This record gives sequence, C-alpha cells and structure tokens, in this order.
Amino acid sequence: MAKRDYYEVLGVSKNATPDELKKAYRKLALQYHPDRNPGDKEAEEKFKEAAEAYDVLSNPDKKAKYDQFGHAAFEGGGASNMNMNDIFSQFGDLFSDFFGGGGFTGFGGFGRGQQGHRRATMRGSNLRIKVKLTLEEIDKGCEKKIKVAKYVPCKTCGGTGARNNNYDVCPHCHGTGVVTEVRRTLLGQMQTQSVCSHCGGEGRIIKDKCHDCNGEGIVRSEEVITINIPAGVYDGMQLSMSGKGNAAPRGGVPGDLIILVEEIPHDTFERQETNLYYNAFITFAQAAMGASIEIPTLSGRVKVKIDAGTPSGKVLRLKGKGLPDVNGYGRGDLLVSINVWVPKSLSREEKEMLAQLDKSPNFQPSPSKSERGFFDKMKDLFN
Ligand SMILES: [Zn+2]
Ligand SMILES: [Zn+2]
Repeated sequence: MAKRDYYEVLGVSKNATPDELKKAYRKLALQYHPDRNPGDKEAEEKFKEAAEAYDVLSNPDKKAKYDQFGHAAFEGGGASNMNMNDIFSQFGDLFSDFFGGGGFTGFGGFGRGQQGHRRATMRGSNLRIKVKLTLEEIDKGCEKKIKVAKYVPCKTCGGTGARNNNYDVCPHCHGTGVVTEVRRTLLGQMQTQSVCSHCGGEGRIIKDKCHDCNGEGIVRSEEVITINIPAGVYDGMQLSMSGKGNAAPRGGVPGDLIILVEEIPHDTFERQETNLYYNAFITFAQAAMGASIEIPTLSGRVKVKIDAGTPSGKVLRLKGKGLPDVNGYGRGDLLVSINVWVPKSLSREEKEMLAQLDKSPNFQPSPSKSERGFFDKMKDLFN
C-alpha cells in the first residue's frame, strides 16, 4: 500500500509550527487510540500512521530529509520502525502539558501494557510474612516453600474486572483520564488538571462487571511461593520479592512480598553477627594434662587440642566456623569458651586423694599478670 503524505495524514500545511503539529497529532492520537477502538484494525493503522508522521515531522532532521526526498528518504525502515511501545512512550512528551509540565506521576504513561491499554498505576499492597529459620538453614541458605493467602488476578476476566472485555469511554474525561478545571482568580484564568476521579485515570469504565471479582479484577486465593533464603541472614532482617505481593485491581502493578526473618534460638550455639559462641566443659585432668576434645560446629564435629595447663575461661577461636556474611564478606568464627568442670559432690576416697594433691606446690595458684587482669581476658575474648 502506498504511503500517504505525512502532512496529509496530520492534516497540516508544510509550514505548520511545532505547536500545530503537536495539536494535530494529539487529536488523531486520541481519536484512534486503541482503547477507544478495541479490535478495530483500521483505527490501529491510522493510529500508527499518525504516530509515524508526527515522529518524522516533529524532528527537524527527519523533516528536512522528508521535505527533500519524500518517503524515499526513509527506505530501509528509518522512519517506520515504530512499534506500539515506541508510540506510547512518545506520549509522555506529547501530553506533558496536559499534566502541568511534568512531575505528574499519577499515570503509568499511556498504556505501556502489552496490548497498548492505558492503565492507571494502581498498585497491589505489599504482603508481609514471617519465616522461621534454624542456624543450620542460615548457615547454608535454603529454599522455603510457603503458602500465602493473597489477592491474585481474576482468571475469569483476566484481571481486567470487565465481563467480556466490555468498556465504555469515560464520559467525564472523554477517555483522556484527566479532567481540566478552569477557575477565575485574581491573577486571571487558572487551569488545573487532575486525574479523572470517575474512571481513576483509566479513561474508560467497565460496561459489564465480571461476576467473579465484582469488577475488581482480583480475587482472594492461596499461592505457594518459593523463597530463596540467602546464607547469613539474621533475625529481624527483611527480604523482599518484587511483584510477589497482592495483585492490583484491574491489571495494575502487584505489590511486593516482604519476608521477615526470624531466627530460632539454637540449643548449642549463641550467635553474635557472624560469630558463634560455644561453651565447652572439660575435666580438671584434661585441663591440667592436655587433651583432644570434640567440639560441635554447624557442619559436624571437629577435634580441638587442649594444651596442658589450659585455664578455665580460655577462649579458643575456630577460624571460619561461624556463619557466612550475608553480603559475601567471608565467614565468622566459632569462639569456644573452655570451662573446667568442678565436681559438685565427692566420695570420701576422692576427698582424700584431692587433699593429698592439694599439698603439692604445683597446685597452689600462681596466676600470671595477664591471668590476673580482667581487661586482658576481655581482649583475649574479642581478638
Ligand atoms: Zn473477574
Ligand atoms: Zn474519566
């Protein structure tokens, strides 16, 4: 099909000003907008034709080429490559003065949706859930499948809320989604634009509501969501999954799923950030003569050597046996506090043996300076 002259398409003269071009195109764009002409192929072609004509004539470079060579200037696809998304993104500029010159965010633009349908940016609400995790799960990271009750798009109407896709153009804003109010003030006439409250900015109203969702486009349902918990998360941390929250009414943007991490207290370990703490109990003989003891870690038991003469309260550091940092900055340590177990009851024979040993000079306390000092012990703990 031969292309129509761009000036003819827009119905303007060769000397049209940018403002006249804009006005002419705006009129056509609204007239042939797909929302107003659902399923009308001819209207869609006209809509595209107008968009292409405006794209060329509003660009001084392209216009000059077109004036000189006509359509031949763009053979090979230069000017006619616009798809519907390009056309809709052009609208932001085209209608910016509708909205008081930018800063207007009530719209998601004109119809960036798949079918080029205009949408108000209705957003689904965020959904909050709690996930309880053991230290073992936190250590490795894990996958949790959680059933959540939430709003999902209505299957009957495809989330539009309209029965059989039946719409009317909004009579209040005539499909533009905005209403203009002119007021007389001391400074003269003032124009204000606002989102049409009748259609919520959608420019159209549902003719026949979907029975299953009462025109809302969303219904209550349950969904099993698979959550990937990264290793190293901590109690009180919030993870968020974008778009996994409640669906929005009539095809808007779904909310997020916010996951609050709750750590189940561990029987054996205490946690401080990425470090773990463990209290080990050894006998007096082990402390005095040295020994090899087994210590539990999150990834199995490990053997640890106790030096002869190890005092109660000594802290051993097992490098890298703590938890991973959630941001990937290595691993913490397992700090093992050594406690020498003191018997709570003794037989007569044991008492006699101990009394014998207690006379030995080796058994008399002779702490070193650092053993006497409280702060040195603390330093030992945190180094
Ligand atoms: Zn429905
Ligand atoms: Zn309206």
